[in-house]
Amino acid sequence: MDEFNLINHYFSWGNIPDDVAVSVGDDAAILDIPVNQQLVTSIDTLISGVHFPKNTTPDAIGHKALAVNLSDLAAMGATPKWFTLALTLPNIDKNWLESFNQGLASLAQKYQCFLVGGDTTRGPLSISIQVMGLVDKGEALLRSGAKDGDRIYVTGTLGDACAGLASVLEDSSVLSVENRKYCEQRLNYPIPRLTESKLIKAYATSCIDLSDGLLQDLSHILKASNVGAELDLSLLPLSPALKSLDSKKAQGFILTGGDDYELLFTIPKKVEQHFLKEVGDKACCIGVINSKPNQVIDKGGVLLKSTGYNHFHD
Ligand code: ADP
Ligand code: MG
Repeated sequence: MDEFNLINHYFSWGNIPDDVAVSVGDDAAILDIPVNQQLVTSIDTLISGVHFPKNTTPDAIGHKALAVNLSDLAAMGATPKWFTLALTLPNIDKNWLESFNQGLASLAQKYQCFLVGGDTTRGPLSISIQVMGLVDKGEALLRSGAKDGDRIYVTGTLGDACAGLASVLEDSSVLSVENRKYCEQRLNYPIPRLTESKLIKAYATSCIDLSDGLLQDLSHILKASNVGAELDLSLLPLSPALKSLDSKKAQGFILTGGDDYELLFTIPKKVEQHFLKEVGDKACCIGVINSKPNQVIDKGGVLLKSTGYNHFHD
């Protein structure tokens, strides 16, 4: 199969949406953006051995490459619409492509995000997806709006993906078979919190998605908003799998581990009760914003240092 057949076979999807004037097959895609809405766009690259263990299944790679991008749109309060895919492959392996496409297409279908173009090259396995979404003008959720007194919330449970990674790469014996399966599922198939994002949007003053560990990602909100935070570590939401671990170990996974793809956001105290009625158990409070810029402390006043994942640090 040559490059062109490959593109046609796997990446020319049917049922082209009405807002896609030109899709895969021309030199560029053409997309219609409604008046009164803004285009929200983000790109993330996944490199084999860096962003996923080398033995990750192609189905999971396809899912995760899109999921991490959809997560960025969720963090912005945007609705996904389209994406482009730059694929670097060591060779053309039909089984691999079939399975990759399966993971990619089923998530794309679920959130109605349509593949409109891309690029295909030969080299060490790497996948870049640029996602595009829409938001009503001026309505996007930013990192910069957190205020003194706002409550700090997260969706879901934290640290599962990091525990999954540790079990793949280091020591699989600390988790039971069932818990290990759960954590690896969380690592390989993150769920972009788009449904939660829609609920959060009406109340939140700031939002970010958790990709590099709670402390590092929280520090981005603090910096952008020029505020500080006090976390109550006893409130960190733990899955049964994380509860089964030594509590210091679980805390380490949460504070400095990555790949959660949950949302971290701030809610003003005066709308908190309304927010809770709407969000139910989809999110929980883990702390409060204070006025001391760029500092995270625990309830005892002890400074918590961020050592989250950074590609350019040793
Ligand atoms: P060009 O040389 O003009 O850049 P390409 O040969 O790279 O064109 O791509 C031809 C068409 O196929 C373009 O519409 C491009 O968007 C699409 N395409 C190429 N690779 C992919 C891919 N991995 N996924 C989706 N569309 C792709
Ligand atoms: Mg090209």
